[in-house]
Amino acid sequence: MFRNFRSPPPNRNWKPIIKQFERAISKDGVVRRKDELLTYECDGLQAYRQRPAVVVLPRTTEEVAAAVKICHDNDIPWVARGAGTGLSGGALPVENCVLIVTARMKRILSVDLENQQVVVQPGVINNWVTQAVSGAGFYYAPDPSSQIICSIGGNVAENSGGVHCLKYGVTTNHVLGLKIVVPDGSIVDIGGPVREMPGYDLTGVFVGSEGTLGLATEVRLRILKTPEAICVLLADFATVEAAGEAVAAIIGAGIIPAGMEIMDNLSINAVEDVVATGCYPRDAEAVLLVELDGLQVEVKANKRRVTEICMEIGARNMTSASDPETRAKLWKGRKAAFAAAGHMSRNYFVQDGVIPRTKLAAILREIEALSDRSGYRIANVFHAGDGNLHPLILYDRTVEGAFEEVEQVGAEILKLCVEAGGSLSGEHGIGADKNCYMPQMFNETDLETMKCVRDAFNPKGLANPGKVFPTPRTCGEAASAQKLEQFKDAELF
Ligand SMILES: Cc1cc2nc3c(=O)[nH]c(=O)nc-3n(C[C@H](O)[C@H](O)[C@H](O)COP(=O)(O)OP(=O)(O)OC[C@H]3O[C@@H](n4cnc5c(N)ncnc54)[C@H](O)[C@@H]3O)c2cc1C
Repeated sequence: MFRNFRSPPPNRNWKPIIKQFERAISKDGVVRRKDELLTYECDGLQAYRQRPAVVVLPRTTEEVAAAVKICHDNDIPWVARGAGTGLSGGALPVENCVLIVTARMKRILSVDLENQQVVVQPGVINNWVTQAVSGAGFYYAPDPSSQIICSIGGNVAENSGGVHCLKYGVTTNHVLGLKIVVPDGSIVDIGGPVREMPGYDLTGVFVGSEGTLGLATEVRLRILKTPEAICVLLADFATVEAAGEAVAAIIGAGIIPAGMEIMDNLSINAVEDVVATGCYPRDAEAVLLVELDGLQVEVKANKRRVTEICMEIGARNMTSASDPETRAKLWKGRKAAFAAAGHMSRNYFVQDGVIPRTKLAAILREIEALSDRSGYRIANVFHAGDGNLHPLILYDRTVEGAFEEVEQVGAEILKLCVEAGGSLSGEHGIGADKNCYMPQMFNETDLETMKCVRDAFNPKGLANPGKVFPTPRTCGEAASAQKLEQFKDAELF
């Protein structure tokens, strides 16, 4: 797995180590009771569970550094955790590990409106950043649908995206600098208040590294001026293909909306059942949401053009909203789409893959065929402008073998994405969920090069071991032979 990683002894004497953590952090910042540890045994990918040996809850960079140093000196693997909403098992504990949770690191450290930046601790919740600066006419652009619960540290580690990332870019485009604790416990500053920094772009390397290079303890974020005008359009279509065609045509016309999202019929009905927006026609095969922003004059012109394009392609109806309340109502269903899936089915598995925008219609047809063959219903919600698909595969975990079958359906979807020239993940990361698929996208030399970067920061392999890269234990010969068998079966559905 890691060049220097040794599995931790299962019978470690934790007592003296706990004492060290209590001295470094505080007694109430160390969780050791089995029932309390249950809270931390999984992230949003609830099918994978592992109880950590200890949880620590530091409040400052120095406390994080002390905790990491104790792990380093005692060869203890550790995993960073923010809010635990990740969907790829990134914050899933490993056996006998320490989980370092940033839930108490919730301070906004500085706000510099003139230079359009804020510095926050990693446990700050995503939408607190916008709340802190919106009164002065600013906002923080990356807006995952989980923005009311997920942490900035988790966003940095996953390079999270959101509905407004089409025009403004994902998290990496908004992080100017970081204070990080690297796995030997040293505190390092990377990036800074100005964009043009000499040397390697270590901020770029760290963002998206999924907790394998260290733990971010301060994050310097770029904030943007709230646009003069915003308009949301909702177009409903008789086919998903037509909605996909409209996306390509809008971008082809030179318009870059702030966000462009599609939901299919299954998702439309789920959100209407749950949040009853009354805006999404239940008989539409797809709705397309387009948000336009900028100067008044520009938004007005683009609204006219987008409406024309959608109508030419066959939109049945168009609704638009410029005032904040109605705009929020139009977005409400999209933001609630994952939660609504939970009302359609006892369980669901969210996949996250990327395809070139132009292949939307073809891949959606293949996903539909896969759903028919496998017998699992698949609802589609996606960041259409980015080609980032989120098929939600509905199943019932109490049915024996269902989860394994659903994982294979998910694997088939990812295979389609990669074969179409896309990617294994748009925003949810690789974590423990997709590490075995990495060789589908990267050859051995590519992976070795990435591992060299990881090993430079994390030479003992103690920071989030077993994530991102395929490991012999989870993807080795025995594991892959078993997976291959299932895969063959999946093809015969
Ligand atoms: C309903 C729902 C909707 C979602 N919608 C979106 C969406 O639209 N877009 C999107 O991108 N994601 C989405 N997600 C996924 C998830 O919310 C994001 O990945 C988010 O960034 C995770 O943040 P977190 O604080 O929960 O991180 P966690 O789950 O706690 O951790 C995620 C990863 O970050 C690492 N980590 C956490 N904190 C730090 C730190 N300070 N330093 C270094 N590493 C750290 C962990 O080790 C782990 O690898 C959604 C999830 C749910 C449940």
